[in-house]
Amino acid sequence: MPLTCPKCGEFALHRSHTQNAGEHLIKTFSPLRPYRCGACKWRGWRMKERAVNKQRRIRNLVIYGIVFVVAVVFALYMRTLFQ
Ligand SMILES: [Zn+2]
Repeated sequence: MPLTCPKCGEFALHRSHTQNAGEHLIKTFSPLRPYRCGACKWRGWRMKERAVNKQRRIRNLVIYGIVFVVAVVFALYMRTLFQ
């Protein structure tokens, strides 16, 4: 899925090359990647798509975990009521 440009909102972001050693270090040691917009020429850093998906998966896992724990506690509580 292409990323949207934060400046113009177009689905025209594509990966850009690093331009100096500092940018190369950021790229190597973080999930950030340089992107450029093909429509308005905006250039900046975004999370690489895989990292975003991973964050989303972890967040969903946490939510499902909380729902599961609440459901188990509720079921145990209901069982104590009807004993
Ligand atoms: Zn743009």
